[in-house]
Amino acid sequence: MKIYNTLTKRKEEFVPVEPGKVKMYVCGPTVYNFIHIGNARPMIVFDTVRRYFEYKGYDVNYVSNFTDVDDKIIKKAIEEGVDAETISKRYIAECKKDMEGMNIEPATKNPLATEEICGMLNMISTLIEKGYAYVAADGTVYYSVRKFKDYGKLSHKNLDDLQSGFREIKVTGEEGKQDPNDFVLWKPEAVLGSRCGEGRPGWHIECSVMAKRYLGDEIDIHAGGEDLIFPHHENEIAQSEAANGKPFAKYWMHNAFLNIDNKKMSKSLGNFFTVREISEKYDLQVLRFFMLSAHYRSPLNFSADLMEASKNGLERILTGMEKLREAEAKVSGGTMTAEELENQKKAMELVAKYEAAMDDDFNTADAISAIFELIKLSNSTVSGASTKEYVSWMKNEIQRLCDVMGIITEKKAEVLDSEVEDLIAQRQAARKAKNFALADEIRGKLLDMGIVLEDTREGVKWKRA
Ligand SMILES: [Zn+2]
Repeated sequence: MKIYNTLTKRKEEFVPVEPGKVKMYVCGPTVYNFIHIGNARPMIVFDTVRRYFEYKGYDVNYVSNFTDVDDKIIKKAIEEGVDAETISKRYIAECKKDMEGMNIEPATKNPLATEEICGMLNMISTLIEKGYAYVAADGTVYYSVRKFKDYGKLSHKNLDDLQSGFREIKVTGEEGKQDPNDFVLWKPEAVLGSRCGEGRPGWHIECSVMAKRYLGDEIDIHAGGEDLIFPHHENEIAQSEAANGKPFAKYWMHNAFLNIDNKKMSKSLGNFFTVREISEKYDLQVLRFFMLSAHYRSPLNFSADLMEASKNGLERILTGMEKLREAEAKVSGGTMTAEELENQKKAMELVAKYEAAMDDDFNTADAISAIFELIKLSNSTVSGASTKEYVSWMKNEIQRLCDVMGIITEKKAEVLDSEVEDLIAQRQAARKAKNFALADEIRGKLLDMGIVLEDTREGVKWKRA
């Protein structure tokens, strides 16, 4: 497998730190609002990367944080007259709902910045002891970028060039800096109470500490959007490598921007969409499919036309899979005929094509083309006269490839209101007859259908979970 590494600007063969294992860290969102579709791209892309490693038999440890210490969270909390935790908890829950809609596998761990303060203070102490950080007169702790000789190696920037760019910028509130590129590790503000210290951490230290705690000093892949290369990821490297004395991540992966109608997404241009808004118009499966229709390192343009095209493309796959399932239920046994063996060979070539595309820096666009070709082959070769062996093989093979893309091929059965009302009436009757076992059974059945019951004074209420 080859991965494009931002650090070396080359595609490199993937060699894990530990054989058979992949340790992956993906920078997560700051939780002060619903996530937007720009946030969704890395989530979908790196979930697909993870799934492909799993397909290849690797054991993947996938860690992605939620930044719940931030000025934007505090601002929103003040506006609403609640505490910051209320805001971050709410939007973490909403983000997880969106992720479920996009069929993103839950991370092995989603650490929260507020729960990792002690680890951050430990790493900051180490950096001060080793001479990489200093305390300014006002108590702010800064990282001294000049002390880290490799500073700039990820973003391929030179400190002196960076310095001249800073000359015109007036830095306010950070007069204690020894160098304009130095960055905050800790601010002694009484914003956040913690059993370790009064103050708040800088953003960058969060990820260095979480990666170390949950994945170790040396990890395989560190990923995020390309806007994080500088300064965020550059600063993470400076912190982690100075504190741990070891190389941090072997491969740095970054996805390109998402534009809207060929313009940069921004609130002021009015072309800003949350994932939740998209979900009102489309199944989020369509959004996922759209995101994977381009290579992750290519800029991607979001437009209504392209979403429609993705919807149709996805539909073709779902319909093809539906046909295969129907055929499988109808056809009888028998081993593959000579003609089917011939078609199986063609299909295996397409599977190889899919794997070659994914092995080449996760080219999902070409991998999806291979799925389309398989669906075409299946549509033209599966009939009532096919053998079960052939139909099942074809179905399972395409399913495996769809799983990596996170495509759910079985359409969700629609639960009708009338069906729910009928079952509730049956449950009420069972309770009246004191048949509580049956009443509980019906409640369980409804739960399996995603219906939650609530017994209130006004009677039984129900909602979809
Ligand atoms: Zn990060």
